[in-house]
Amino acid sequence: MRHFAVVGSGPAGFYTAEALEKAYGDQARIDILDRYPVPYGLIRFGVAPDHQSLKAVSKRYDKVAESAGVDFIGNVTIGRDVSVAELLDLYDAVILATGAPHDRKLGIPGEDMTGVVGSAEFVGWYNGHPEFADLDPPLGGAHAAVVGAGNVALDCARILSKTRHEFEGSDIVGHALEALDSSAIRTVTILGRRGPHQVAMTPKELGELGHLEAAAPVVDLADFPPVEADDALEPGLRKSVTLLRGFADLEPNKPKRIVFDFFAKPVAIEGDGRAERIIVEKTMLDEKGAARGTGETYEVPASLIVTAIGYSTSPIADVPFEGGKFVNSRGLITDRLYAVGWARRGPTGTIGTNRPDGYEVADQVAAAMPAGSSSEREGAEGLKRLLQERGVMPTDYDDWCKIEETETGRARPGSPREKFVRVEDWLQAIGR
Ligand SMILES: Cc1cc2nc3c(=O)[nH]c(=O)nc-3n(C[C@H](O)[C@H](O)[C@H](O)COP(=O)(O)OP(=O)(O)OC[C@H]3O[C@@H](n4cnc5c(N)ncnc54)[C@H](O)[C@@H]3O)c2cc1C
Repeated sequence: MRHFAVVGSGPAGFYTAEALEKAYGDQARIDILDRYPVPYGLIRFGVAPDHQSLKAVSKRYDKVAESAGVDFIGNVTIGRDVSVAELLDLYDAVILATGAPHDRKLGIPGEDMTGVVGSAEFVGWYNGHPEFADLDPPLGGAHAAVVGAGNVALDCARILSKTRHEFEGSDIVGHALEALDSSAIRTVTILGRRGPHQVAMTPKELGELGHLEAAAPVVDLADFPPVEADDALEPGLRKSVTLLRGFADLEPNKPKRIVFDFFAKPVAIEGDGRAERIIVEKTMLDEKGAARGTGETYEVPASLIVTAIGYSTSPIADVPFEGGKFVNSRGLITDRLYAVGWARRGPTGTIGTNRPDGYEVADQVAAAMPAGSSSEREGAEGLKRLLQERGVMPTDYDDWCKIEETETGRARPGSPREKFVRVEDWLQAIGR
């Protein structure tokens, strides 16, 4: 028998557990650990609440959790309640799938002012993340800005622009729905340091902006290279650029606008004690395709500024860490310690990108300790004893199901508007 600990219950953790389960069958026990009492990582707290079809991927993860060889152990933070060294004593291999939950900073003056929030915080707020339930983003001004040229920036701009009616069928939390419903924001400016040919926005997410009830996307065709240049683009990006160009033909007859401001690099945030405007330097592309400042600046009014420029992993004591992720070679950190998903690669790719990652690492584990081999390590039994000694009360699969069922409305992946947003509420639901 082998014992494996997968730390993190987002996509990377579940795909790794699935792959280990396939490789070992009943020759291994796989524990998926998470700091929260309920699983799914960014599927719960990141993916937009109005993208329910994507959140449905959690059903596949449920199947993994229901497998005989797999257990969920929630409400345990590795690095605080238990160290990685202790896990390595208890388990044959430890796989870190802890994601990349911290916002990268812009590194410009004024960034710490009230009104400037990272996308992890903002997205966490509307998705019911317990750490960000009290964020209270300022929605009382007419202008907001979102910094970034990827899908997370589009998610933030879209959520800020939708009507109450458009959130029907979503699982947005009540506090966010109420706040957004009374928001005064009429213009959301998306600031991208480079041009339309350099966006990391996918066609599906861009296409949605053309069909919003009360908001219209706005582009300036002067920002685009000649249309013939689109031919050289990879098909997905070409489709995105075609959609962006098409926004120029839309009638600006809606009360709200989502303005794409390309070649725009934020250099400072200003205001009287709280953000009022963002100072932007016009850029141009240099020969390597990087954005180079031109020295020309202008102001974009914004009392809410959401930065969506990437994420970094949380370091864990004694695990080598560099450049926002764990130092690894094809997932291997040190003997019997691995990383997968965003903790391995950094914050890129889609949910599905984490699957080959998990399978590759599971293959490496299986090559190092083939199915049928065994060890004397204790696995979950030892872990639970350690947690009990430390007064940590882990949750299990039954607790997670009970928590979700207790939430009013639909059981899974989340109930509209009545989700728990505090760890204490989750724990209370299971009588802790
Ligand atoms: C705002 C946003 C929107 C997105 N939308 C989409 C989309 O529409 N489509 C798409 O394909 N992809 C989307 N993605 C990308 C997708 O969410 C990621 O590819 C995926 O979640 C990364 O998986 P992961 O398992 O590496 O990390 P995560 O999903 O972040 O999971 C990490 C898990 O580790 C746990 N954890 C962290 N530290 C510890 C610790 N010390 N101890 C115990 N547990 C710990 C966390 O609680 C979490 O459950 C989006 C990402 C973001 C940020």
